[in-house]
Amino acid sequence: MINLMSDTVTRPTPSMLKAMMSAEVGDDVFKEDPSINHLQEKVADLFGMEDALFCPSGTMTNQIAIQVQTGRLDEMICEQSSHVYRSETGGYAANAGIGVKLLHGTNGKITADQIAKDINPDYDWVPRSSLVVLENTCNFGGGSYYRKEEIQPITDLCKEKGLALHLDGARIFNALTASGDTARDMGQLFDSISVCLSKGLGAPVGSLLVGSRELVKQARRVRKVRGGGMRQAGFLAAAGTYALDNHLDRLQEDHDRAKILGEQLAKKSFIENIRPIHTNILIFDVKAPMTAATYLEDLKSKGILAVAFGPQTVRFVTHLDITEDQFQELVRVL
Ligand SMILES: *Cc1c(COP(=O)(O)O)cnc(C)c1O
Repeated sequence: MINLMSDTVTRPTPSMLKAMMSAEVGDDVFKEDPSINHLQEKVADLFGMEDALFCPSGTMTNQIAIQVQTGRLDEMICEQSSHVYRSETGGYAANAGIGVKLLHGTNGKITADQIAKDINPDYDWVPRSSLVVLENTCNFGGGSYYRKEEIQPITDLCKEKGLALHLDGARIFNALTASGDTARDMGQLFDSISVCLSKGLGAPVGSLLVGSRELVKQARRVRKVRGGGMRQAGFLAAAGTYALDNHLDRLQEDHDRAKILGEQLAKKSFIENIRPIHTNILIFDVKAPMTAATYLEDLKSKGILAVAFGPQTVRFVTHLDITEDQFQELVRVL
């Protein structure tokens, strides 16, 4: 099967497995796993931030970031299609006990002007606006990305108004590949960043929360209370280190392939509304009487897996486990 369901479906490559199996490990709950310590220092340094914390998932790093930067009776501001709102089971409410103000952006992106209108005044009838969350790239926005120049006014606004700014960087390296900005640029713009290793980078598990020493210290406590403290997880961290050393440079290939698939789909009379293709995500609609379900069924019978993003909407994601032969077959079938 050619699996375009997500860039999370990748399996460790033989060299990655080798790196994992030869990892030096210890008990990370005592901060004594050298492979985890190494990965945390490496990622903190990459983003030019003080510290980082290895966690099992991107949902956990986002949820920890939300909890440590808000208090009860607060509210976070984010785009209506953002993962922290739509795809983390309402964790902002369940874990942090806060509300949410949803903005309607363009392809998942929001601006400082929009945010400024929705920061609540200091008044006892309204929740306190304490956090803004951006996503880069935007998953439901079709893999769109922010450039540093677009984020800077949001950073300035948050500083002026005393709000924290978190980046859900599940696909931050796809964004950096497309924009040409650096991880350090991002580190200067945000108070905290979630960095996933198990999306385009191809590691089996893991996300890091990056931020100041004080923020990461708080984050460690919250990771513990959520049961996210792991023991000899250096085997997993070694996969992440391997991914950062070997799989960053190839992300452009995923982006190029998504464009080629988009061109192929554009020729089809039964496909419409292909969203602008910026990175490795391709979202489009199929025309009635066809539905996403019937189209996916047909693809499946031809050896291709993808997911529905709505009754008429389909998502393809390209990633490192699609071989050149599979890609050629994919183009032929489409
Ligand atoms: C995948 C994803 C996450 C985190 O997902 P996990 O499966 O918990 O690692 C967070 N944000 C976005 C935008 C994502 O696509």
